[in-house]
Amino acid sequence: MLFSEIPGNNKVKQELISSVKKGRIAHAQLFLGNPGNAKLSLAIAYAQFLNCEHKKEDDSCNNCYSCLMYNQLTHPDLHIIFPVLKINKIKNPISENFIAEWRKLILENPYISPQDWYQYLGVENKQGVIYKHEARDLQKKLTLKNYESAFRIVLIWMPEKMNHVTANKLLKLIEEPPNGTYILMVSEDYEQLLPTIISRTQIIKNKPFNSQEVASFLKKEKGISNEKAEIITINAKGNMNKAIQLCVDEIEEVSSIEAFQKWMQICYRVSLNELSSLTDEFAKKGRENQKVFFQYSSTVIRECLMFNVFNKELSLDNKQERFVKNFAPYINEENSVSIFERLEKAIKNIERNANPKIIFYELSLQMMRLLKVKRKLAN
Ligand SMILES: [Zn+2]
Repeated sequence: MLFSEIPGNNKVKQELISSVKKGRIAHAQLFLGNPGNAKLSLAIAYAQFLNCEHKKEDDSCNNCYSCLMYNQLTHPDLHIIFPVLKINKIKNPISENFIAEWRKLILENPYISPQDWYQYLGVENKQGVIYKHEARDLQKKLTLKNYESAFRIVLIWMPEKMNHVTANKLLKLIEEPPNGTYILMVSEDYEQLLPTIISRTQIIKNKPFNSQEVASFLKKEKGISNEKAEIITINAKGNMNKAIQLCVDEIEEVSSIEAFQKWMQICYRVSLNELSSLTDEFAKKGRENQKVFFQYSSTVIRECLMFNVFNKELSLDNKQERFVKNFAPYINEENSVSIFERLEKAIKNIERNANPKIIFYELSLQMMRLLKVKRKLAN
């Protein structure tokens, strides 16, 4: 990972680079920040820069042996620790048991959350732990000499997942690592960390990405159009992980007039069979997409209302406007407030991790009723 691959964060990057140049490197550092920000990628870029054999002015060379190893996260003097789960019949799981999977996921997206990691391992609704065997394994590794490089890095992703035994075992190491060993911790939950650990580290606070950084990353790296990048950026709220998931997933599909039209037709026909298969489809889309779908639905309903009020000219070449013109008669002052409120509520429930099938099914039943609410005749 190069510094230049990470959007924004220029001030932190400069501080990290200058600490290396001046040889003032704290032996234990804590990269701290909200989910989906640059903390892990910065820690990796920093470790790579430390070990790069031909450092450039403000980045690693990306060409030397060390850089090539770092690009795959396989450098022999890089030890990575992260929360793991008791799965696959492994009795005392440690990071090494899952390192290939972790590398693969992080190389695809260094902004992921611990939940994404557990999901990737096929387990949802379970919390990973850094177990005490991890401390023993690391201590053993650190008694050996460095393989190739001047600096040995211990990267601990989500140290707040260490249980107390692990944390206490690692305290001494964090306070006084062996010569040439640097501990880089990457955390998003400061309050869960032992105060004794915090007091022994230098803290590097990382801000969320700003909208411009997210938007230009999406356009440049993911080839997303201006318009879509804008929608995704609003929804991602500075969380790059969310932004990436929104473009990897079916943002095109969930925010399309076809998807909304299909839903409304099923509701209007009160077709429970079709609704049940549509509910299954909806449940598979992932929470971010589900939210976007409801937000998009709200936008279309609002356009219908505007059309009714102002009766403005719509372009018939535009799919969305064509639909709005046809659908507007079903939206009126009697049902629109209710529809908006229910869409809002559905979005909140998705955020609260409620069951998406129940949310979608119930909302659809309400829509079936609301679409039949006729406009009161003016006297
Ligand atoms: Zn290099």
